[in-house]
Amino acid sequence: MTTTNAVPNLKVVDAFDLDDELRSLLKPGEMIRDQHGRRHRLPRYFYEVPTHEIATSIRLTPHFGLNEFILVDLKEAPRLQKFPRYVPCAIRLLAFYMEHFRSVVGSSVHIAVNGGYRSPSHKLSTDATPHMWATAADVYRIGSTILKTKETIEKYNGIAEDVSEDLEVLPYGHTTGLSVDDHVHIDLGYVVNLPREISEDRMEQPQENRHRFAFEDRRKKDRRTVVEGNEPGA
Ligand SMILES: [Zn+2]
Repeated sequence: MTTTNAVPNLKVVDAFDLDDELRSLLKPGEMIRDQHGRRHRLPRYFYEVPTHEIATSIRLTPHFGLNEFILVDLKEAPRLQKFPRYVPCAIRLLAFYMEHFRSVVGSSVHIAVNGGYRSPSHKLSTDATPHMWATAADVYRIGSTILKTKETIEKYNGIAEDVSEDLEVLPYGHTTGLSVDDHVHIDLGYVVNLPREISEDRMEQPQENRHRFAFEDRRKKDRRTVVEGNEPGA
């Protein structure tokens, strides 16, 4: 049982259908290089978060609220600090893994401001990092332990790596982007979550003559009901 059923569903949007300013800030589908020179394609499908109240009310997992993953300071582009806000659909995958991590460490896990989703237009976004995919979290405190020593960072890095092969961490050190000295960085890599309802053969252009592409993200139970109704035995 989770508490997520009590909150309104979030609308999923194709960022190509957002206005020019939002498109230029979110850069859907654009290629960007990481610090190793490898190129990655930025996400295109986002949850639209209408208001601050809704952001703070939505639980992605029993212990993680949506708002914890979208806290930013003035380093984020001004338009992206205003609601409605946009967060890549992979955020739910990150929350799922963070919930696992939390259950293993057995105490509260605190994500830093700017430590969840950061847009490609965020001032900390120079090279590609999974933060731009909403698949990374910077944890600055676990329980009452502030993570700023080599010993504590390496301890929790090891725990995160043991949770799943899917999780990567950054080693202790003082090189921005390649190592960390005041938090634990946990990421899933450049994972994109494609909602089931989208068709991937759609042209990568704004579709001026079409209705804006958006749909309500239905609960799994609702999807199952539809499938069972249409295709008995499926
Ligand atoms: Zn990080």
